[in-house]
Amino acid sequence: MSRYTNGLVIRDPGVPAEVVELGLPEIGPGQVRVEVRAAGVCHSDLSMINGTLRPPHPLVLGHEAAGVVVETGDRVSRVRVGDHVVLNWQPACRSCWFCDHDQPWLCSTSSGVAALENGMTLDGAPVHVTLGLGAFAEQVVAPENAVIPVPPQLDFDLAALLGCSVLTGSGAVRNTARVQPGETVLVLGLGGVGLSAVAAARAAGAGKVIAVDVSEAKKGLAEAAGATDFLVSSDGLSKEVRGLNSKLGADHAIECVGRASTIRAAWRATRRGGQVTVVGMGAADDMVQLGALDIFSSARTLKASVYGQADTDLEVPALARAVLDGTLNLDHLITDRITLADVPAAFDRMSRGEGARSVAIL
Ligand SMILES: [Zn+2]
Ligand SMILES: [Zn+2]
Repeated sequence: MSRYTNGLVIRDPGVPAEVVELGLPEIGPGQVRVEVRAAGVCHSDLSMINGTLRPPHPLVLGHEAAGVVVETGDRVSRVRVGDHVVLNWQPACRSCWFCDHDQPWLCSTSSGVAALENGMTLDGAPVHVTLGLGAFAEQVVAPENAVIPVPPQLDFDLAALLGCSVLTGSGAVRNTARVQPGETVLVLGLGGVGLSAVAAARAAGAGKVIAVDVSEAKKGLAEAAGATDFLVSSDGLSKEVRGLNSKLGADHAIECVGRASTIRAAWRATRRGGQVTVVGMGAADDMVQLGALDIFSSARTLKASVYGQADTDLEVPALARAVLDGTLNLDHLITDRITLADVPAAFDRMSRGEGARSVAIL
């Protein structure tokens, strides 16, 4: 018998997302069916609908989620029915070149896939699911390596954030930038990822954490996350940062926007020999121009951090334990708890730069 679920779908580019009934695939060997209990509204989903990314359609949105395993296929060993799990949009195969070389976040079996078919149907026709998940749905079917068990004591809304924004922001600071005590860290773009980066920089012992956003309204959120200073983004950013930092420039800039203009701003605001870590996922045709002489003489490093450069199977449970023992406070990150049908309005708020994370509670 076929199963159905409700999910948030975009039928064609430019058409508003709507909650519709979808056919769920029968689960196969190595797959699990998860009842989604909470799903966060992430900027990458907005990029799927505002033209920054160009995924195939129809498309089920959503990739930052947590829920309960309700069915397991043959040969599933890592979870059982009833387990609470965080969904992982970059599952590691553990056998490709990257997995063999301790870079599971670059696993070649899932890298770079914005959306793919997984057997879900809409009116009998195949639909695509965002980042292999399509988590804005009451239920999803996923491979077992795309679910990470977490303690049942952890609230689903907080657990959901561990699957994208928190892992991405904190991993960029800890694993890619490797921020050291006393360093000055600039964070550009204060959505869920940026605010997580601010908190991680503070936790890493950064001397100054300078948070930057286009919206003055993010100041309170930035300070709650641990920022020592807040600046509204402007052409004079580099000068303002140097004014806060003995004229030197930041040791690190964490770019959480994914635009050439902010990557350039991050580059200019960093000291000679400093490091820019790009976390935001930008558009393919948004070119970053840097002078060849500038690259040499500034001796700066430009790095990307994909999914927090983390082994998700180890770091998500570690983050879950940190939330439960009180060493990682995520309460300030969730500013709106909403329904699935309210997610499009949350995208509008995100476009206007309002609030931090909206989380759909299912
Ligand atoms: Zn995300
Ligand atoms: Zn792999």
